[in-house]
Amino acid sequence: MTMKQKQWQLYYLGYYGGKIDGIWGPQSKAAAVRFQKDYVLDADGVFGALTIAKSIEIIKAIQKEITDGKIAIDGLAGQETKDATAQWQRENELTPDGIAGAMTRGKILNLPAQESEDWWSSIQYFSQKEFACKCGRYCNGYPAQMQRTVVELADRARTELKGVGFVSSGLRCRQHNANVGGVSDSRHLIGKAIDLRIEGKSARQTLAWAQKQPEVRYTYAIDTNYVHIDID
Ligand SMILES: [Zn+2]
Ligand SMILES: [Zn+2]
Repeated sequence: MTMKQKQWQLYYLGYYGGKIDGIWGPQSKAAAVRFQKDYVLDADGVFGALTIAKSIEIIKAIQKEITDGKIAIDGLAGQETKDATAQWQRENELTPDGIAGAMTRGKILNLPAQESEDWWSSIQYFSQKEFACKCGRYCNGYPAQMQRTVVELADRARTELKGVGFVSSGLRCRQHNANVGGVSDSRHLIGKAIDLRIEGKSARQTLAWAQKQPEVRYTYAIDTNYVHIDID
């Protein structure tokens, strides 16, 4: 990643207010430190591999939410993403500056407030919204609460299997569960199940990992990528 792109990542996420000139001076360094502290990374001010990966992961998540198919979901901040963000802000009655700072980011990703004691803030790689019911019509997305244990499992899978995680199904309302052919007592109804894919891993590899986790009650491969995991 170029220095300019690194500055873009920090600028877009509201950490950097300087020029995007590719010169990694004290302002860039300080911005990187603030970002790293917020995301529990080594606060060395160097925009290294992990910091890059994290910024990409966050920006991808934002792009996924705000895009209407017109921008690439590549995790790279730039004018297009900024414009799309400004548009989203306009629609959501926020100042349309195109910057996904803490407030805009929180609204887009539905992150719990920073000061919240909520356990969601201890989850590193997933936001609450990724586990919402995906019916889009029968419920508000949260027919139940996700259980901490199963979300922590997803976080651990992300860490140990070293690939970005994707949740195709977390919570389901009854109607949606019936529509997707879920069993009537599915644990997706009560926030105790996830369908998870880890980037770069086959379902078989993720399954082998899941089978070794003590909290897991039942797990199986849904297809070649996704694995269903549930807990008691
Ligand atoms: Zn629903
Ligand atoms: Zn499932």
